[in-house]
Amino acid sequence: MEPYADVIIDLSVKNVDRIFQYRIPDHLKEFVKPGVQVNIPFGKGNTERKGIVVGLSKETDYDPEKMKELLDVETGAVPIRTQMICLAFWMKDRYSTTMNQALKTVLPVKAKVMPREERVIVSLKPKNEIETLLIEAEKKKYRARIRLYRALLENGELPLKLTSEKLGITAAMLKPLVEKEIVDLKTVKKEPGAGNRFPEAGPVALNQEQKNAAETVIRDYDSGQRNTYLLYGITGSGKTEVYMELIDYVLRKGRQAIVLIPEISLTYQTVMRFYRRFGNRVGIMNSRLSAGERYEQSERAANGEIDIMIGPRSALFTPFPDLGLVIIDEEHEGAYKSEAAPRYDAREVAKVRADMSRAAVVLGSATPSVESYYLAEQGEYKLLTLTKRAKENSRLAGVHIVDLREELAEGNRSIFSRRLKGLIEDRLANRQQVMLFMNRRGYAGFVSCRSCGKAMKCPHCDVSLTYHKNGRLKCHYCGFERPLPDRCPACGSPFIAPFGTGTQKLEEFTKREFPKARILRMDADTTAKKGAHEEILATFAEGGADILIGTQMIVKGHDFANVTLVGVMAADLSLYAPDYKSAERTFELLTQASGRAGRGELQGDVVIQTYAPDHYAVSSAAEQDYLQFYRQELLYRKMMGYPPLVRLLTIGLSSKREADVIRASEDMKRVILREYALDGLKVIGPVEDSPYKLNDNYRKILYMKHESYDILLKVRNCARKRENIPDLFRNVFVQYDLT
Ligand code: ADP
Ligand code: ZN
Ligand code: ZN
Repeated sequence: MEPYADVIIDLSVKNVDRIFQYRIPDHLKEFVKPGVQVNIPFGKGNTERKGIVVGLSKETDYDPEKMKELLDVETGAVPIRTQMICLAFWMKDRYSTTMNQALKTVLPVKAKVMPREERVIVSLKPKNEIETLLIEAEKKKYRARIRLYRALLENGELPLKLTSEKLGITAAMLKPLVEKEIVDLKTVKKEPGAGNRFPEAGPVALNQEQKNAAETVIRDYDSGQRNTYLLYGITGSGKTEVYMELIDYVLRKGRQAIVLIPEISLTYQTVMRFYRRFGNRVGIMNSRLSAGERYEQSERAANGEIDIMIGPRSALFTPFPDLGLVIIDEEHEGAYKSEAAPRYDAREVAKVRADMSRAAVVLGSATPSVESYYLAEQGEYKLLTLTKRAKENSRLAGVHIVDLREELAEGNRSIFSRRLKGLIEDRLANRQQVMLFMNRRGYAGFVSCRSCGKAMKCPHCDVSLTYHKNGRLKCHYCGFERPLPDRCPACGSPFIAPFGTGTQKLEEFTKREFPKARILRMDADTTAKKGAHEEILATFAEGGADILIGTQMIVKGHDFANVTLVGVMAADLSLYAPDYKSAERTFELLTQASGRAGRGELQGDVVIQTYAPDHYAVSSAAEQDYLQFYRQELLYRKMMGYPPLVRLLTIGLSSKREADVIRASEDMKRVILREYALDGLKVIGPVEDSPYKLNDNYRKILYMKHESYDILLKVRNCARKRENIPDLFRNVFVQYDLT
């Protein structure tokens, strides 16, 4: 018996942040369930209002006698807006945020919609003339022009925005071409993809493994089952083709699909692949859209003008009226977890959203997160596996591990092992390309005093400043900058110097070691300018450099056919991050980096330089053996009591006043232990977050572990209540993360 309906008032009334309870009259009982719209008497005058049922309760804090009764239930399909409001409500509870913040996340912010027009680049010359121009541009090494002509030959007409963003083509570069009447800029109606401006590409014939995967989902779907699937397939095994097959199927059922792809992997090639297959039914979201464009995309989805939305995390809230499928590519990516409130996990929210509209969810990865693979093993997810590369001529690269301790013992002081150096020389001689990967920018180039040993730190954050080539010191957390001092601020010694090897240093060393090589560097510094990221990748793709040096950015989802060597400079740096997921992250990065070598027809090599060759994250990555890694990692998590084997509640406290954060975190620990120690709750901390001081805030963390999610939920609610004590928490900001 659940006689009370928890109702939130529809948005037209301001105070939506609380629940109102109503009695359910007998004749409506079978119709009232979470998600339905109801009519309710509201306020003193009992005005009739629309509300949404978000839950049913057995108990109530009100006097049941005085409680009002629901008037009516709206039957029929639940409008999309109602669904999204329910989703916001779920998020508010799950991620302990305000309803307002949750609503802002799920509902498109109404913004001025620009006229439905766009600028396109059109070719004014026939194909053969463009081909001639391309050859000329290639001779003269006009990189941007080469890209433009190639794209024009492929597509004839190019949306200006997408092209300039993704191919790094600027207005200045187009101007002379317009003057010479080679191309023209036109304003046309509608979106990219409209009118089938992209040459269509039919589906490829799926191989047996791909077919099995797609058919499993389709068979379930046909029999009314909507599951969550984990598609585990090595890089290049054809996961994207499987996604497209499933989308095709769902579209034929008259339903819609959302495809989440981490922004960094949302490349021109990926986007075009979807356009070619689905033409003008595709919409794209990315963080660079203006509020108006975002709103317009939402409207188009709501109006049925498009059926597929591709984008990062936030594309999950596309208001499709009859969502049938959610795909989350690269599901292991950290970017699926929001850093800002509400700190939601897109994989979790996708599941809830899919349940509301009876949609299936497919998570795909070459290196599934330990959590997801565990859930697949537990039978929560259905596992689909692709074990082979889809293209017959593409082979996995050969992986070599180099122990840097041995190199040093044998007298090699260079940051290049002899193995790596030899292979680079070989590639340069054969005009093939090389990628050098340095997995952490933050470790780079900090400046320390050779006399007293003190490192130069940011005055606002507890982190070392990083030395940049222009002679300035920069904080990578808050942006603080200062010139390199002549003397040590602590002891006055003149012997202060940059230390360590970051991407900048690596670039210098590489230049010195291989003076003839053309080198490009890609990291947060070189890509700060809009479009710079694409520009670098495009230049490298067309052979404008021999060696690309970079951070994680270079290993995510980019295919370069001529790259036959990948060097990982120091594989273990990321192993020492203060985080239980550091081995997982290291394994992912190494596997992805290895996947970059030999994408074309040439055999590739990968050299992993490390001080920890025996660490399972390094050795499993070298053997390209996910399951071996997974088994080891699960053992470690079991032993140490980490998710997914226990649930974890992280409470982060921060304050501008150090004494306050210390007092508040100690207090919280004491109160929680008093209430929950008997339930077997484990509390760790308070420990200092890393960095401890950030933007002038001191930060402490408490970790709570328990097998039961529900207990941790209670602990969190208890902690939130404690926050109401002004003496202790007035100057302290508290955040919760429950996994
Ligand atoms: P993943 O998403 O798993 O990395 P993709 O779907 O991008 O893999 O496929 C890798 C490459 O193999 C692509 O160039 C794709 O066009 C090609 N490919 C995929 N499936 C097939 C197939 N069944 N037959 C031929 N080529 C395929
Ligand atoms: Zn000093
Ligand atoms: Zn700082």
